[in-house]
Formats: sequence, C-alpha cells, structure tokens
Amino acid sequence: MWICTACNQLVPDPVRRKCPNGHILFDWSILAPTKDLPAVKSFFNALLICLGVVVAITSINALVPSKPFGNALGYVLVFFIAFGIVVLRRGRKWKRQGGPVARLAPLTLGIALGCIVTGAGMFALGITVNLIR
Ligand SMILES: [Zn+2]
Repeated sequence: MWICTACNQLVPDPVRRKCPNGHILFDWSILAPTKDLPAVKSFFNALLICLGVVVAITSINALVPSKPFGNALGYVLVFFIAFGIVVLRRGRKWKRQGGPVARLAPLTLGIALGCIVTGAGMFALGITVNLIR
C-alpha cells in the first residue's frame, strides 16, 4: 500500500506515483518510495543497493590505475551509517505521528539496518583484512 507522508493518508491508487493531492510518493530523507514494505524486504533492498555501491567503488578503483575514488570508500561507509541513523529517526517520528504514516516504520527500520549493517560490516571486514595482512 502506498502512503502519502504529506497528507498522512493511504493512497490505494496512485496516479503516476503521486497521491490525489499531487504529492510524490517518494521521501528524500529515506531515499525510498513511501510504500509499506515489510522490514525484511526493505532490509535486503537496502543491503543490495549499499553492497552494489561498495562493489562499484572498489572495482572502479581496482580497474582504473589512477584510482578515481581513492579512499572514498571509508567516507561512503560512514555515510551509510549516518544515513541509517537519519532513516531510523525519521521512522520513529512517523511512528509517533501515528495514522497511516506509522505503517512506514518497518520500511524505515529495514532500510536503516541494511545501511548500518553494510557500513559497519564493511568496516569490520576492512579491519580484519588489514589485521591478516
Ligand atoms: Zn498527499
């Protein structure tokens, strides 16, 4: 079910991804469409996207001799964790607000955990690899 966060109402029949009042059914603070996906599903969506970004950066750095992204990966991982916290807070706000937007809480929880797990996991992996070396 789509949910308009501006009107705080369910949108059973979105027209061009907009609610009847013309709001886009996408929230920029969580970078996701405002659909009440289960936490597990949004977790794996976020995990795949975050891992995709990590793989893209590492492989471009590995393939291009000038290493265009240098050590950008560290910043990206920090961003994932910070973003996860922002999304978590947004979800809590919606939950407190009540009504239909509260149904987006599992979505935000999944996105937040997916990003934080990728960020923290990659850091742990990086530290481990350095230790083994
Ligand atoms: Zn609306």
